[in-house]
Amino acid sequence: MHTAPLPPASSGIRLDPDINICQTDLPLDWYQAEFKPYAEEYMRLPDRKPGTVLPWLDKYAGPALEHFGDSLLLVAHFYMGGEIVKLVERYGGAVSDSYQLALQAARNPHKKVIVESAVHFMAESIAILANPDQSVWITNPKAGCTMEMLAKDYMVEPVAEQLIERYGDDLTVIAYMNTGGRIKALAGRTGGAVCTSSNAPKVVEWARRQGKKILFVPDQHLGRNTAYKLGMDLSKVVALPDPQVARGAIKLSDKTIEGGLASLDRAEMILWGSYCGVHTVFSPAQVNYWRERGYTVLVHPESKLEVVQAADGSGSTNFLWEAVMKAAPGAKLAIGTEGHFVKNAREQGRQRGVEVVHLADIPDPAFHSMGCGCATMSRNDPPHLAGLLDLLRQGKAPAINRVYAGDVVDEQSGALDRKGDSERAVLVRHARAALQRMIDITEAK
Ligand code: SF4
Repeated sequence: MHTAPLPPASSGIRLDPDINICQTDLPLDWYQAEFKPYAEEYMRLPDRKPGTVLPWLDKYAGPALEHFGDSLLLVAHFYMGGEIVKLVERYGGAVSDSYQLALQAARNPHKKVIVESAVHFMAESIAILANPDQSVWITNPKAGCTMEMLAKDYMVEPVAEQLIERYGDDLTVIAYMNTGGRIKALAGRTGGAVCTSSNAPKVVEWARRQGKKILFVPDQHLGRNTAYKLGMDLSKVVALPDPQVARGAIKLSDKTIEGGLASLDRAEMILWGSYCGVHTVFSPAQVNYWRERGYTVLVHPESKLEVVQAADGSGSTNFLWEAVMKAAPGAKLAIGTEGHFVKNAREQGRQRGVEVVHLADIPDPAFHSMGCGCATMSRNDPPHLAGLLDLLRQGKAPAINRVYAGDVVDEQSGALDRKGDSERAVLVRHARAALQRMIDITEAK
């Protein structure tokens, strides 16, 4: 058993031995074979309190940290359960949003082994920007993002090809950060850019100034909210059919497109039909409930347009976090976003006299309303982190847990479609071009 002292938590999130770990244990038959021994051990622990789980994790993380030294970097997204956030910070890692996560390898060239607890597209974004001597690993490759799952390359590319055939160079693709590398590369190939929820208006405006017709992938709500924010004529913002129909690979025609092909011809922006199940549970009635009780309501722009219109403000994960951190003591905030994030924000707010509630957690049975966490993100649980660190130390980590640019994983079966070196090099070039355009647009005066 490793007994060396642990590094201090890096961001001041308090380790509270009285908070129960809320991770729901996954069924054993769900783990990759290599991870089952760790899951079995975890399930035999007497409870899920940090005071029990942290020493158990330390048994595996400590030797891995000793083995890799300063070359190992642990990273997690804000939406991970508070317990994983605390664990990663306890081991000297970084917790951030998807944009900041993507930059972790490039900003830390001395880190050679990067272990990510978040969804797959986020690890892939790190891999796109990584140097050749850096390896990126995900604790659970089946942790997908639902809006990205409905915008795989084999769904989007056939539709993009039909649009390019119809509009030629006038069409450009803007890929939200929540896309796989193949879609980011498609954006790069069409002269487009990547965007985040905070810089989407700037990126869309940049494309409009060039007179481009935009295919916005994958989140229809972020696309529509961005158009609204920019004052665009919403009758010229056309959503493609639900990608769950025909797995997205639709033939564009007067029958399949609402308003027919003429509506696409008139459109300024064409929206891929994907969405996030976590952010589309919100309603204007929930917003009104909290506002009537003196709360300021802030929501993420992956929510529906009518919710954004009813709320007091909307913005990215960082915007929401900053709003909590900067709120004056006594402030009351209702936040419409992912459940684990709101739980972490509530803990932070409480320490400063700021009350934070989840927009959908309404204590009135008439609403039938309850907030939820990102279930797929939570597929990265403590046994996955312990197992991957231990297997990496032993040189036995499964190949599927290594993340390369262009990887596509089937979130049900775990089947992996990985590109060869030369194809990957082309993909990385295009995807990096789209990411660089975003950075240039965002940082331009
Ligand atoms: S909260 Fe929604 S958009 Fe974010 S990672 Fe989870 S499924 Fe994807």
